Amino acid sequence: MDMQHCLDMLDMLSEGRLPEEGAISSFIDACAPEAFSGPVPEEAPDMEAGYLAEAGLAPSQASYVPGEPLPEEDAAAIRAALFERARKKALEHFGNRIYVRGLIEISNICRQNCRYCGIRAANAGAQRYRLSPAEILACCAHGYELGFRTFVLQGGEDIWFTDERLAGIVGSIKASWPDCAVTLSVGERPLESYRLLRRAGADRFLLRHETADPVHYAKLHPARQTWKNRMACLEALKACGYQTGAGFMVGSPWQTTDCLEKDVRFLCRLQPEMVGIGPFIPHADTPFAHFPAGSVERTLVMVAMIRLLLPFSLLPATTALGTAAGDGRERGILAGANVLMPNLSPREARARYRLYDNKLSEGAECADNVAELRERIRATGYEIVVDRGDFCRGGETPCQEEGAPCADAAQTEFPASEGDVFHG
Ligand code: SF4
Repeated sequence: MDMQHCLDMLDMLSEGRLPEEGAISSFIDACAPEAFSGPVPEEAPDMEAGYLAEAGLAPSQASYVPGEPLPEEDAAAIRAALFERARKKALEHFGNRIYVRGLIEISNICRQNCRYCGIRAANAGAQRYRLSPAEILACCAHGYELGFRTFVLQGGEDIWFTDERLAGIVGSIKASWPDCAVTLSVGERPLESYRLLRRAGADRFLLRHETADPVHYAKLHPARQTWKNRMACLEALKACGYQTGAGFMVGSPWQTTDCLEKDVRFLCRLQPEMVGIGPFIPHADTPFAHFPAGSVERTLVMVAMIRLLLPFSLLPATTALGTAAGDGRERGILAGANVLMPNLSPREARARYRLYDNKLSEGAECADNVAELRERIRATGYEIVVDRGDFCRGGETPCQEEGAPCADAAQTEFPASEGDVFHG
């Protein structure tokens, strides 16, 4: 794709219009051609063939040919223009407000075996832990004091957390802090379970789709973990009335720009309220240990593109982005992200919830250091606010005064928060 076509793409994306089939991948190839931060290991083709055979899929005949990249100077100019437009779109809808969520990693015990994940069941080296309900509530109490109004309970698929136990915990949080939102991120469960947890008071659910390409999904997951089930879970979450979060890694093994195009089109169909996008980062005790991390620049391009196409979505500047680049969080915000998720888990748990190598859990990533985070974000021109930060569609007409944050929190039955500046 040449420079003029890239500029046309920017206009189209800014108007929230999906370009024709193939244009998204060509655009990514043109302005963010680097997929990975290093060479792919020699054993990758054999691994790929083995995984496809396990899933009963034939190896693909045609090898993928990426589109033409622009000269780096032009590519950088397109990326800069894309980030600027995404930033403006976020400012239109949210002002310079950044929402924070207190992340509580409730358990690193998991029955699943995603090949990219450091806490997969097969990793005998992981030091396992599970927080008790009392410990989880203590994290919330501490977080509330610090100014958090959303708690994200995230964990592996730990069967100790039955519907009854989890519903009890959600109910206790909502009873103690009725002005707070509860987000769950506990993986695939039956529809009935999602329904019950919603009735118990859970407001939101994060379940990354990981890749919208079923063949790519089969390379990242063992055969018993199916793409079909992941899709069904996401549909079920939407049907239950959760503010639903999907998302994907950028630069996961065997990902092509065709896969990324499918991700964008899938998200435009699903219309999730939240989208988590971070670079793939390898973990030493997984089958993908020798694969390179995903590119930060390409990750930022995907964040910006989703901001333009899903302008009201809540987009975190992810921990993975902060891990891959020291200024990753700030660059994420400057590319259109509007959410941060500092870690409220007890220190010992944080060190053990190692999804990938060198995962940040200290410094500005730790909820106790929110003052440091606030200063860093302020230096970028943004303010962390005390707010549930619910999804707000805005309606047909702009729902806010020019430059003011959106005030229509119609999705929630709870009173809109005061929107104070975060006091952590
Ligand atoms: S990504 Fe989630 S479901 Fe998969 S192994 Fe890790 S914790 Fe378990």
